[in-house]
Amino acid sequence: MEIEIATIGGYEEVGRQMTAVRAGTDIVIFDMGLNLSKVLIHDNIRTESMHSLDLIDMGAIPDDRVMSDLEGDVKAIVPTHGHLDHIGAISKLAHRYDAPVVATPFTNALVEQELQDEQKFGSDSELITMDSGETMSIGDSGTVDLEFVNVTHSIIDAINPVLHTPEGAVVYGLDKRMDHTPVIGDPIDMKRFREIGREGEGVLCYIEDCTNANKKGRTPSENVAREHLRDVIYSMEDYDGGIVATTFSSHIARVKSLVEFADDIGRQPVLLGRSMEKYSGTAERLDFVDFPDDLGMFGHRNSVDSSFNRIMNEGKENFLPIVTGHQGEPRAMLTRMGRGETPYELDDGDKVVFSARVIPEPTNEGQRYQAEKLLGMQGARVYDDIHVSGHLCQEGHYEMLDALQPQHIIPAHQNMKGLSGYVDLTTNQGYKLGRDVHVSSNGNIIQLV
Ligand SMILES: [Zn+2]
Repeated sequence: MEIEIATIGGYEEVGRQMTAVRAGTDIVIFDMGLNLSKVLIHDNIRTESMHSLDLIDMGAIPDDRVMSDLEGDVKAIVPTHGHLDHIGAISKLAHRYDAPVVATPFTNALVEQELQDEQKFGSDSELITMDSGETMSIGDSGTVDLEFVNVTHSIIDAINPVLHTPEGAVVYGLDKRMDHTPVIGDPIDMKRFREIGREGEGVLCYIEDCTNANKKGRTPSENVAREHLRDVIYSMEDYDGGIVATTFSSHIARVKSLVEFADDIGRQPVLLGRSMEKYSGTAERLDFVDFPDDLGMFGHRNSVDSSFNRIMNEGKENFLPIVTGHQGEPRAMLTRMGRGETPYELDDGDKVVFSARVIPEPTNEGQRYQAEKLLGMQGARVYDDIHVSGHLCQEGHYEMLDALQPQHIIPAHQNMKGLSGYVDLTTNQGYKLGRDVHVSSNGNIIQLV
C-alpha cells in the first residue's frame, strides 16, 4: 500500500497545524488550525466573515491547495485537541471535503461552536465523537484503522491519533507532555504507545511536536503548577485588598485549581471574559469538571461590568476574579482593567497573578509588557510565570522514540530553528537526516512507501 504524508501547515511556524496521511486511496487529515499571531497583528480583523483564500494569503490558515496532489478521498478530519492552532481553520476549510470531523467529546464541542460562529461558509460537516482508547475503521479496504491514544496536554480530552495501515502505524504526536499526575483526566497512555511500537509492522512514521525540542530535561506535571499556584494564592490569605488571576481560558485544570484555592482563602471566585465563559461552561456541561454551584461565569460586556460593580460594592477582599488577558491581549479583560476601563479599581499593593507564561513571539511580548506596565502604574504587584508547559522537552522526546521505535520521523510544530534540537536528538539516536528523519516545510508531500 502506498503511504504519503502531506505536511501542509505548522512546519514553518507554531500555528495553523495541518497534516494529511494517504494510505492507499484513503486520506485522513490531522488538525486544521489557525495561526493566531497572523490575525492579531492586524487591528480589528474578524475572521468569522473572511474568505479562506484571503486567510491563506495572510498565513492565518493552512494552504491546503497541495491536497489536490494527493490521489485519494478524504475520509476523516481529525483534530487532536481543542486549541485554536489545531481546530481554528475547520470552519474555513472543512466544507471543501466530503468527510466527517472525528474528535473526542470536548474537542468536538469546541469545533461545533467554531462552526456556529462561522459567517462566510455553511457548516454541514458531520461531527463524529470518539473517546480515547477507541478505534474506527477508515475507508472500505478493511485494512486501515484510526485509533485515539490518550495523552496529556494543557487542555482536557487531548489524544494522539494513530492510523494503522498494512505498512505499519502512522502516529501523529502533536501536542502533549508526559503527565502521570494530571489534575483532570487520565495519565498519558504510555503502555499503549509501547504496544504500538512492538505489534504488527511497528511504527512506520512518527510525526512529533517539537515546540520544546531545544529544551533539556523533562516537562513537569500539571500537579507541579498546581502546587506552585497553591503556594502563591495561600501566601495572600491575609491580604485584605484586591487579588486578580489570569490564565489560558482553555486550560480547564488550571482554572479548576484557581477556583479551589480562591475558595480555600475565603474568596468567591468569578470567571470573567468571553472565552472564560465559553471553555469552562463547555467543560462543566460535559461533566469534565465539577465547579461550585455558585461559581459565576460572565462573558458579555454588560454582565461582566455588573459583576465588577457587585465586587466593588461588596468589597474586593471577598472575591477573586479569574479573567482573560494572560498575554496582554488588547481587548481582554485584564488589559481593560489595566487601562481603567472597567468598574474594578486597582489599589496600591493589589495582587495580579499570571498563571501563564508569555508565548515567545514579539507581538505577545510587546502586548504583555504593556499590560503589565499599565497594571503596575495603578500599583498592582505582579506574580508571573506560575505555569508548566503543555509540550514535551528533550527527555520526553527520548522516551517517545524508545516507546515507538519509529522507522521514519517527521518533526513538526516549529520553525527550522525550533526543529533543530529535535533533529540533533534523533541523529544522536542513530537516525539519519534525509534518510529517515524528514525535515519538511509547508506544502510538501513525503512518499514513505
Ligand atoms: Zn495545543
